[in-house]
Amino acid sequence: MLLQGKRALVMGVANNRSIAWGIARAFHREGAELAFTYQGERLKENLVGLLAELGGADRFPIFPCDVTSDAEIAAVFDGLRARWGALEVLVHCLAFAGRDELTRPFVEISRGGYAQALDISAYSLIRCTAAARPLLEAAGGGSVMTLTYNAVERVVPSYGVMAIAKAALEAEVRYLAAELGPANIRVNAISAGPIRTLAASAVRGISGFRDAMDEVAPLRRNVTTEEVGDVAVFLASDLARAVTGNLIFADSGFHVMSAAGMLELRRKDGG
Ligand code: NAD
Repeated sequence: MLLQGKRALVMGVANNRSIAWGIARAFHREGAELAFTYQGERLKENLVGLLAELGGADRFPIFPCDVTSDAEIAAVFDGLRARWGALEVLVHCLAFAGRDELTRPFVEISRGGYAQALDISAYSLIRCTAAARPLLEAAGGGSVMTLTYNAVERVVPSYGVMAIAKAALEAEVRYLAAELGPANIRVNAISAGPIRTLAASAVRGISGFRDAMDEVAPLRRNVTTEEVGDVAVFLASDLARAVTGNLIFADSGFHVMSAAGMLELRRKDGG
């Protein structure tokens, strides 16, 4: 039980395929106390349905939170202060970009679409961490984590504006880690492989990237939300007490492969 005595807020469960749900289940298995946020009434129903698996929704503090609203973010942490008084772990597992922005040529990304993707997918980490900070300090420190994708340093067609949001997010991880380290607050990102989720369905061609994992990732397979959940357990636990400002890949090693290496593997496999 690596997370016994830890209180964790998980943001971003939309359904049973969500990476946030894989993280929540792994945290539950390891003995963490959990709270959740959901975006909108429809997703509340999904969350409440899923929580039956963990013993029933009434066992967990759950809060509405659209991260474009400072008031909703503040209400989440006010609610947690009243309920728990302190917080050890914050899981930021959410992102959004308009489908149009992901399908049009990169050079035609709109000003509004850019601002929205960056606001929801990147700025929200700063805002949520600021709101969580007093509770994390009350716990004597804690672990903040977010989710990214390896489309920042290398081009992934149709990831478009989301790649820019992830670049900002990854930079935020380093800046937040540097600033909050003295308060013993660690901030890290998990870079997950391509997983079939609601958010990912907006990325054209992603099913092809998923298939390619079986052929060209060092482990010759894709990753599951359970496996990402286990990496999150490590980051949330005291085992990671010296780990901050990091990007940890949970991608079957895909990120180490060069294009030449992948082509060579495909050629060999092809006979
Ligand atoms: P998902 O669709 O299950 O989760 C995305 C979540 O973002 C949903 O719960 C949605 O409600 C939330 N969200 C969107 N706009 C919001 C807003 N304005 N306010 C509050 N919440 C909002 O998809 P997922 O793939 O599990 O995504 C979770 C995270 O993992 C995202 O940051 C995503 O970029 C990242 N990620 C996904 C993959 C992948 O292939 N699925 C790979 C690497 C990283």
